[in-house]
Amino acid sequence: MANATLNCPLCCSNNILQRTTVGTFFKVWRCGECTFTWVDRNDLARPEAAASYDNYGYNRHLRSSFEQMKPLYIKGLQQRISRRLSDRSLQNCAFLDVGCANGEYLWTAKSIGFGRVAGVEIDSSAAKLASVYGEVVDDVEKFAPFTFDVVQIKNVLSNIPDFVGFLSSCLQVLKPDGFLLLDNPNQDSLTALLRNTLARDYQKTGLYGHLRPPHVINGFNLASIKELYRRLHLTPTYISTSYIGTSVVPYYPPNFTAKVLGLTTSFFGKGSLLITEGKSNVNT
Ligand SMILES: [Zn+2]
Repeated sequence: MANATLNCPLCCSNNILQRTTVGTFFKVWRCGECTFTWVDRNDLARPEAAASYDNYGYNRHLRSSFEQMKPLYIKGLQQRISRRLSDRSLQNCAFLDVGCANGEYLWTAKSIGFGRVAGVEIDSSAAKLASVYGEVVDDVEKFAPFTFDVVQIKNVLSNIPDFVGFLSSCLQVLKPDGFLLLDNPNQDSLTALLRNTLARDYQKTGLYGHLRPPHVINGFNLASIKELYRRLHLTPTYISTSYIGTSVVPYYPPNFTAKVLGLTTSFFGKGSLLITEGKSNVNT
């Protein structure tokens, strides 16, 4: 059994190094083998570190820009779906969004033709709004195994202490020939690097790259996300970085500077979001 502090939670190596302390007491570690970066699990277990997601600010932020962003949500999801499911009738396919916020992607999946859409959301205010589009539950294990053709997990794994166990539960509900969409902030992005260089008082800012304990506690990059796919016996079919949202979908209306900077950094694999897609069965 790997020790929560002395081993990497992703590859279990004990070749780990403490990088800094963020906020009042959160130690940040980086693995010398797989390069995964994380907030110390013992620190997160302290009562004062309990993370609340009720009426979560990130979800409220998504809600305020959604109306304006609808055409881009549709374009982005359509582009991703066409990479793997172009030969299937979407009317017969089921789509699950894990961490569905206010149902932005449930609306989008329905709009592009999915017959069934469903979500998982622990923020009860957001879940209530999302439930107008389909069934929304607070735990992925409430769905039967092998239910969904597409499972999307966007900006969720970076917030989960037992992210390997959580991803494993999500994969249980994916059909054997299903399609996984898995996106996370890129801890080695130019944005993260600049933030760490320009605002080095991590205890004061409470930020280290994209880490923001007690909420954002896992820092993936291109190398460590590939290690995650390997550990879960998943085959990656697409791995890239983007500046925000999916490869074509910003969450918020981007200005010109953000677009230019985003496209340039993405070209060099330094975009702020890791965009990945995969399948669970190597034979399909
Ligand atoms: Zn590791």
